[in-house]
Amino acid sequence: MRVVNDSEGNPLAVGDEGNGRGLVIWLTGLSGAGKSTIAQALIAQLRARGRRNVELLDGDAVRTNLSKGLGFSKEDRDTNIMRIGFVCELLSRNGVIAIAAAISPYREVRDRLRLRIPDFVEVHVSAPIATLVDRDVKGLYKKALAGEIDHFTGISDPYEEPLAAEVVLQTGGETVERSVGKLLRALELLGYIPARASAISAEEEDRVVEQLRLSGRAQETIALPHPAPPENHAKSPSGLIPAHGGELITRVLGGRERDSAIDDLERYPSLEISPRQWADLELIATGAYSPLRGFMNEREYRSVITDGRLANGLAWTIPILLLVDGDAAAEAKQSERVVLRDRDGRNLAFLHVEDMYRIDREVLAQKVWGTTDANHPGVALLQEEGTIALAGPIEAIRLETSSLFPGYRQTPAETREVFRDRGWRTVAAFQTRNPVHRAHEYIQKVALELVDGLLLHPLVGYTKKDDVPAEVRMECYDVLLNNYYPKERVLLSVLPAAMRYAGPKEAIHHAIIRQNYGCTHFIVGRDHAGVGSYYGTYDAQRIFDEYTREELAITPLRFENSFHCTKCESMASEKTCPHGPEHRVLLSGTAVRERLRSRAEIPREFSRPEVVRVLQHHYAMEQSPEAA
Ligand SMILES: [Zn+2]
Repeated sequence: MRVVNDSEGNPLAVGDEGNGRGLVIWLTGLSGAGKSTIAQALIAQLRARGRRNVELLDGDAVRTNLSKGLGFSKEDRDTNIMRIGFVCELLSRNGVIAIAAAISPYREVRDRLRLRIPDFVEVHVSAPIATLVDRDVKGLYKKALAGEIDHFTGISDPYEEPLAAEVVLQTGGETVERSVGKLLRALELLGYIPARASAISAEEEDRVVEQLRLSGRAQETIALPHPAPPENHAKSPSGLIPAHGGELITRVLGGRERDSAIDDLERYPSLEISPRQWADLELIATGAYSPLRGFMNEREYRSVITDGRLANGLAWTIPILLLVDGDAAAEAKQSERVVLRDRDGRNLAFLHVEDMYRIDREVLAQKVWGTTDANHPGVALLQEEGTIALAGPIEAIRLETSSLFPGYRQTPAETREVFRDRGWRTVAAFQTRNPVHRAHEYIQKVALELVDGLLLHPLVGYTKKDDVPAEVRMECYDVLLNNYYPKERVLLSVLPAAMRYAGPKEAIHHAIIRQNYGCTHFIVGRDHAGVGSYYGTYDAQRIFDEYTREELAITPLRFENSFHCTKCESMASEKTCPHGPEHRVLLSGTAVRERLRSRAEIPREFSRPEVVRVLQHHYAMEQSPEAA
């Protein structure tokens, strides 16, 4: 190895050792903001540090070579960017640092590239318009401002700023050296280049770190702690666990406020929302989604999909969005408030429209469900929604809960009241969308050996067609609790939420909701909220390791699949039983359904006879409704 010194006298390794990881550095910003200048200075610095394999794709050069003939319509601009991105991707895959300097005005296409390219660093090169006008020797900005140039980005054409770029450089107020210094520091923190003695001030370092956090990549950086989220672990006065974020939110109007809201209804445009959207709204209104007060704005949305956290650092994995189509968005645009209603007009709420943005379904699907496969039931549902998100706080005016399960529809405030009355300090929640057989009964009872109470919390919103309907499941739970559980230690209540089948991300989501209902522990089995073979068996348990107690206060209780073992003569699991699978009483879901339909025997070691009778009746009805 040949050792040479760089311009500042630091020893450098030259040769293969100088070729580190490939990546794409994407400089976006208005014309004249300094993208090319910074790119050139960055290349010089990287070369001085021994990185020989650096390549620049400059917007202007690309237009004359790679994209000749393309114009300045949105379509042509997007094509140009996708071409640059494609070349950058090829280069970075081969260990090259590919730097693109292109205006790239549209957020959606930049986000597409981010999704495609594993190592992508977006740099927003920003300067005030006044500075750009001053710098512009050709006088193009003045002409554009005078209306003489069409499609001039930032003046007569839109420029959509990045919302969560890894690096933001304010070139109006700092030298090229400082800008490049900050950019290099971000690359060091992300582990792309070896760290050096810092060339930037402590204040600048703070800003670089803060921006990386906003971009959702703090996780990858070397020793960057998350900001301390709001007091999430403090003891609440009642002795119960506090809501997520510390305060149980209610967004339901009462009394005079409600009366005057009803008088106001006519003044605002109204929008019918689907039962699944209403389910989210109800969960916001009752505080099950604390600390949310409404549907997520773009910043919150980005933070959730990239970082698995709200912008304040609290755990949150499922974006809560009100997705509508273009017509509805156009109507909402005309008013600062929209009345949301269900199909029958029984449920009403105000949405205070504070943000409106377009989402990319593929990005959303990939980030939350880990797949864009349309056969995934959660991803399939996305296709039924619009692509424009309306965001802002909501206020429920009328919340008429369904006539189904009237005695079992407690809000978080109400379940907390029950826990308080019964003196429960520790409560384990059990999420289910299935009938409870012996295996789950066993898990619940093992948990109940350790905590004061059990919240059996079946989800009764949307589920897949082949899941057992909620009414039938409720009957199963009733007979089971009446015959086999100590009544005073169990609360059966329904969760009016829709299933998303998002596996690990939904496990965290379900846990957060249960904390808001007052639970201290959350039972997580294998493949929680999973479907098909999209998620690994233990993914939904492992994801809890990614969060600190400050970020998520509820404690997961991780369980193995359990079964009746004929040798042990009891319920057991891999953790407690040494005997082979031939001694286990196990039936697949399909086998259970077949036996129920044909009224074949289901062993009592697998399911309680009372539960089997309810299910047999359901399947008989399903086959011939008139016979039953
Ligand atoms: Zn055994």
